[in-house]
Amino acid sequence: MILPDPAEQLLATLTPDPFNQQLRLDDGYRVLLAMLDRQRELGQTRTSVREIHQTLLALDGGSTVGHHDRILHLLQMAADHGEVRLNGGEAHLGDAPQGPGPSHVWIRYANTAGATVEITGADPWPAQSMRPPAEHSWWHCTGCRDGNGMAAMPIDLARKAAADHAADCTALPPLPTTN
Ligand SMILES: [Zn+2]
Repeated sequence: MILPDPAEQLLATLTPDPFNQQLRLDDGYRVLLAMLDRQRELGQTRTSVREIHQTLLALDGGSTVGHHDRILHLLQMAADHGEVRLNGGEAHLGDAPQGPGPSHVWIRYANTAGATVEITGADPWPAQSMRPPAEHSWWHCTGCRDGNGMAAMPIDLARKAAADHAADCTALPPLPTTN
């Protein structure tokens, strides 16, 4: 028996805008989160705008979430909320989410304008990973969004990169997100 898809079940309860047949942004975001949850359950560690788009098109009502630009926008919201890490159109689902969270942010620096530069690592460590946590950390500026992207680095290098960046960066803290 095939279990019902949670995103598809959610889609059945949502009504698109009658003028453009598109879901509201927050409704589309709920669908995206349901899809990401499902992908994590299936053991996936990465996804992409293209993959999400194709998956949506296979779901009943999935096209109402929108196309490439809208999906990328939704993924950026998910990254802002610490659900995924983005590198271009690709999203990391498993290890080291960005954003606040005591179990993932290891170190915070303040840049010259008060935005934080964070060092994140995965804790608990993902079971499928071969490398020890010390080899896996990322830095990310919440002001200008610079960082080492998906390339993990040892904690001492991440610490130096983040501290150097914080000393130079003048980007203001991000605007508060509305839920
Ligand atoms: Zn910065």
